[in-house]
Amino acid sequence: MKQIMKEAKFSISNESDTQAFGKRLAALIQKGDVIGLSGDLGAGKTFLSHEICRALGVPESQPVNSPTFTIINEYHCDRFPVYHMDLYRLSEPDELYDLGLWEYYDGDGVCLVEWFDKFHDLWPEEALMLRIHLLEGEARLIEARGHGRGAEILEKL
Ligand code: ADP
Ligand code: MG
Repeated sequence: MKQIMKEAKFSISNESDTQAFGKRLAALIQKGDVIGLSGDLGAGKTFLSHEICRALGVPESQPVNSPTFTIINEYHCDRFPVYHMDLYRLSEPDELYDLGLWEYYDGDGVCLVEWFDKFHDLWPEEALMLRIHLLEGEARLIEARGHGRGAEILEKL
């Protein structure tokens, strides 16, 4: 079955715009959703993830930091667990299987995956992908592409 696909671009002028984008996105997220974040170091993948988590209701008592060294950070809000991952330090597909990444992708939690594009062929069919382009100063361009559930989110974003 062919998935519905949708693409959109969002212009971001400053950090508040990214925060507002994160809030709008969080309001559309449901359990089981998978969101990939890509873009150069410093683009704002972790910054946006933090905003999404707070808007989902992850309490301040659970710090939302870069998972570069932990690979997976797990947080909890009332509705579902949130798995915040960073594939930056992984190099072999075997490492993804060892981590049980597919169980997270297919599970009922919400996955926020930084550097998902390192393993583009090992990525779920239904997902929302956000590529953050660094522009001048605080300006960013977010290129979004969604398949299936990801397209549904994008439709409303
Ligand atoms: P990444 O995870 O993509 O490597 P981070 O989120 O860790 O990047 O860092 C992004 C940095 O850029 C933060 O220090 C943040 O304060 C800064 N920044 C400036 N403008 C923006 C913006 N519009 N959106 C997100 N982060 C921004
Ligand atoms: Mg990061």
